[in-house]
Amino acid sequence: MKAAVVKETSPGERRVALVPDAITRLRPAGIDVLVESGAGDGAWLSDAVYADAGASIVSAAEIYRAADVILTVSRPSPAAVHELRAGQAVIGMLAPLAEPELAATLAAKGVTVISLDGLPRTLSRAQPMDALTSQSNVAGYKAALVAAGEFGRFFPLLITAAGTARPARVLVLGTGVAGLQAIGTARRLGAVVSGYDVRPSSREEVTSLGATFVELTSVGSAAGEGGYARELTAEERQAQQEELTGHIGRHDVVITTAQVPGRRPPLLVTEDAIKAMAPGSVIVDMGASALGGNVEGSRPGETVVTGNGVTIVGAENLAATVPTAASNAYSRNISALLLHLTSGGALAIDTSDEIQAGVVIAHDGKVVHEGVAALLQADEGGAGVDGPSD
Ligand code: NAD
Repeated sequence: MKAAVVKETSPGERRVALVPDAITRLRPAGIDVLVESGAGDGAWLSDAVYADAGASIVSAAEIYRAADVILTVSRPSPAAVHELRAGQAVIGMLAPLAEPELAATLAAKGVTVISLDGLPRTLSRAQPMDALTSQSNVAGYKAALVAAGEFGRFFPLLITAAGTARPARVLVLGTGVAGLQAIGTARRLGAVVSGYDVRPSSREEVTSLGATFVELTSVGSAAGEGGYARELTAEERQAQQEELTGHIGRHDVVITTAQVPGRRPPLLVTEDAIKAMAPGSVIVDMGASALGGNVEGSRPGETVVTGNGVTIVGAENLAATVPTAASNAYSRNISALLLHLTSGGALAIDTSDEIQAGVVIAHDGKVVHEGVAALLQADEGGAGVDGPSD
């Protein structure tokens, strides 16, 4: 089986799906690796390093001609979608619930679509394949560094002959994978850190990192299914925003990471909360999206300074800005998944397997993932697309 690593084309995407050390781990399973020339450049991995590890360095045209499986980080470009042909498979973080039409288009071409974001994350044997976790970890780390970089003062307590600097007070809202890593990183930089989440189980994780857990009296538990949060009601949302405003105003730096699966990110930092912050304060919104983020007025990929001197960073794809670490981790995730899917030197699709049921989105000309198929059916544009197979 030939697995190919393509050069990512999304703006700012510096990660690569496979790093050279994966090549030797894939070979015993009968997997030869083709690498598009320049695929690793953004992560400082040259063609020569891939060739030394045993990969064949080829052109993009050769990849679409010869590969059985195409490995990517993010969604393929329209040009790549055009090139993909029946019998090929594409594996990446394809966000099919956000863009089900891509799965439908590829299914219609007979391309097998496999997405790491569908992995059942609580299954212990799936953990080595958990790219959402590995990339959130990298992004949470970078969010704390971005905040420290924008902040005009020190994070740690510093006592010098030129005076004493008090430590920065950092508040992390949403303490899942990214939030906990942001807390750990801000703590290592010496800040005094607090964390808040609607899942009460995160309290222990926050305090075990040496941070204080912020309790809100107006909002109870909003733990949802599968370890995720549920969406708050309108009343809960308003009560949460009002109570958080007081806490936010007492902090120098706020990092927000809150997400609810399948919903737009909840608004946690309102205009009133931003106005309550002192000039020089910094907010990093990891939830920033075109639909709006966790912070009022944040814009993905942009940094804005408010009239009262608060810098708001709309973080976008932070994992791609730590490309080597992110690629190393992603490469381990995608290799583990590829090995899980491979039998006798070929892909063996079997959606009765719990892992495959989560990640296989389209196969044999059909969208087989129930959630994605349901979205397509609900959408008028999805007319004509096959539903879930039985
Ligand atoms: P996520 O990216 O979906 O959300 C980030 C955080 O935002 C979550 O902690 C969520 O509770 C929080 N949040 C949502 N709405 C909020 C609101 N209104 N106010 C405050 N916080 C809000 O989450 P994630 O980082 O992917 O992790 C979600 C859960 O999955 C965690 O419990 C994590 O421990 C768990 N997890 C388990 C495994 C495993 O079992 N192997 C692997 C990965 C994650």
